[in-house]
Amino acid sequence: MDLGLKGRVAIVAAASKGLGRAVAEELAREGAEIAICARTPADTEKTAKAIEASTGRAVLWQAIDVTRAEDVQAFVAAVEKQFGRVDICVTNAGGPPSKKFLEISIEEWRAAVDLNLMSAVFFARVVLPGMQQRKWGRLITITSMSVKQPVDGLILSNSVRAAITGLARTLANEFGADGITVNNVAPGYTLTDRLEELATKRAADAGVSREKIFEQMSASVPARRIGRPEEFAAAVAFLASERAGYLNGTTIAVDGGWVRSLL
Ligand code: NAP
Repeated sequence: MDLGLKGRVAIVAAASKGLGRAVAEELAREGAEIAICARTPADTEKTAKAIEASTGRAVLWQAIDVTRAEDVQAFVAAVEKQFGRVDICVTNAGGPPSKKFLEISIEEWRAAVDLNLMSAVFFARVVLPGMQQRKWGRLITITSMSVKQPVDGLILSNSVRAAITGLARTLANEFGADGITVNNVAPGYTLTDRLEELATKRAADAGVSREKIFEQMSASVPARRIGRPEEFAAAVAFLASERAGYLNGTTIAVDGGWVRSLL
């Protein structure tokens, strides 16, 4: 299937590793121009170079914090300067800490809102006007399976990501007539540093080995295994493509069947 991504300009946020990196690699392999960001300069540059080497595409990178509106604005301006426009914007950030409700401070709640909701708002505010003018755009946010079925111990994620679902659904309504689609992709257990961190925390809390936790995670998934970042990235590439023009306002779970709901 030709996804029609050749020559499209794509931003992938928080993409020095994990799911963001896999998405950037997949879009570059499909022929898109790529811009990535993350906070740690050395990691971000290294990933940009690795994607350039594996795909032959030039990758623009910047070290920014997506919780800072001015950083996001400057990054998008740099992408527009280099590539002329932004066609596809995949918003992403790290995950909030795993804690019980009474252990979480007010500052941690605010930080989670900044990290996972406001970062998506900041990108949407700066990329949508250009997409609207050109009558074509794809805005995709990486959320979590927790938007469909809350995950125990992840109350910050369960709460804040629900707000992004509302944001995306409403933007889809507002910008649909402009040829722009707005969707979210919800990962299930996928092998990245974030999952390693969660497994380590759960193992310490339960007094069992990390291997035991990974076994339990796998057993809870109908596919009976943890997902690979490239499996997640394939779904995002499809949503970003020409082929997905009539897929709008939805959340696609890439979770091996973990969410048990009918829809
Ligand atoms: P990861 O492997 O920990 O990677 C996170 C990436 O985000 C890194 O490149 C990190 O680089 C960057 N980042 C973090 N905070 C940032 C900030 N404030 N500004 C800019 N970049 C930032 O995580 P992942 O597994 O890819 O997860 C991506 C998202 O999916 C997270 O929100 C996670 O909670 C969610 N998720 C993951 C899974 C899973 O199983 N992997 C399941 C459900 C949901 P720097 O640290 O250098 O900034």
